[in-house]
Amino acid sequence: MLEDDPQSAYAKAAFNIRKYYWKILKVEHEPRVVTLADFADRDIGTEHFLIAQKHGISTAFAAWSRDGGKPSGPIQHSYPGLNDLEEHLSKIRKSKRKGRCLHFDAGSRCTHIVDAHSIQKNGALSLIAENGKVIAPSRNYTDFRQNQGTIALSLQGIGKVSTFRGFCAAHDNDVFAPIDKGPVVPTREQVLLYAYRSICRELFIKEYSAVLYAEQAKQLPPDSVVHELLDGMRMGTEIGLKSLQYHKQVFDECINERLFSKMCYVLFCTGQKPNVVFSGVIYPDFDFLGRQLQNLADYTKPWGLLAFSFVPLEEGWGLLLSWHSTSSGACIPFMQSLATRIHEKGDGGEFLFRFVIAGCENMAVNPTWWSSLSDDQRTAIEHTVFHGADVLKMPRADYLAAGLENVAAWNFEKVISQMEPET
Ligand SMILES: [Zn+2]
Repeated sequence: MLEDDPQSAYAKAAFNIRKYYWKILKVEHEPRVVTLADFADRDIGTEHFLIAQKHGISTAFAAWSRDGGKPSGPIQHSYPGLNDLEEHLSKIRKSKRKGRCLHFDAGSRCTHIVDAHSIQKNGALSLIAENGKVIAPSRNYTDFRQNQGTIALSLQGIGKVSTFRGFCAAHDNDVFAPIDKGPVVPTREQVLLYAYRSICRELFIKEYSAVLYAEQAKQLPPDSVVHELLDGMRMGTEIGLKSLQYHKQVFDECINERLFSKMCYVLFCTGQKPNVVFSGVIYPDFDFLGRQLQNLADYTKPWGLLAFSFVPLEEGWGLLLSWHSTSSGACIPFMQSLATRIHEKGDGGEFLFRFVIAGCENMAVNPTWWSSLSDDQRTAIEHTVFHGADVLKMPRADYLAAGLENVAAWNFEKVISQMEPET
């Protein structure tokens, strides 16, 4: 197994065994780190080590007959359907989602649903595009497969990057005019709208994912492990969705009543040329020091939510981190841990780059900058983007503490912050 830690390796191994409807009675050797040298004198060991390194996993079975019958050497088997989980997940990623207007006042007038950009087309995507193209997470099944099930980044036209069919033309225009039609100052209203757009995209995608997981699970026998896993993912998505619905309602009320005073934010500004644009939301579970902020296994109350966006500024660009004061319980300690790390190491850019890449797959990269990176750097970025999306991987407490050093060279010269509501 090619994995980051023994727990994830075990989870994947167990999953692959249970695909054959086998029950694990006992584990004789717990997962441990091995090198090629460990297999030097084992008959098919070297070959399988290399397969695992290339494809992520390699499986060999040994069997004994009850009557102690004739022994035999290794037999090569091919098992079609070993990657059926990836196939189902890929179908979900690619499926065409029917649109609906998420505006709180949506109704019969919302007939013309548009492909709304969650990362602005003019002002963000166009800033990093070359000949109208950017590098972005691929929805293409072949790319997905060739990258061994890892989300690949590929060259794409900006027309479809980051879009979701979550608003009608009129409401999209109406609601987002203060951020789409002028530079970011920022006002608390603008801060709210950036966060709101990210929340709506996430909600739109989660709603459909829950339905699609259920549809895919239905095609499989209920006692199959893939069915069980897809069903678990549906339940997990529905729990996350409930929390998102709560936050969207809080934001809906703010917009409806034009009350923006409860929005808090930290804006990191730079005059550098942008190389990555992004927008997303996370429930901060661990801070930059690896300490737990909120327990995502406890879903008795909504989790605190933090939004982050690339924002074009009059000069240069900014990374906007924002939250409604109802999420301050998780977001303020999160920001304080970032301040501690910056104070220790003096390089906020590195932490923030890691945070953005680990936090979302709703991002796009400048093609020239992408090709200037080494193969290892590109793989590391793809690996990090995918980390949260890999269902069999264990969550890591330290995912914000290290990794992707010396890649982006972000350097923020100025910070504007309002961490408390306006009184
Ligand atoms: Zn509408």
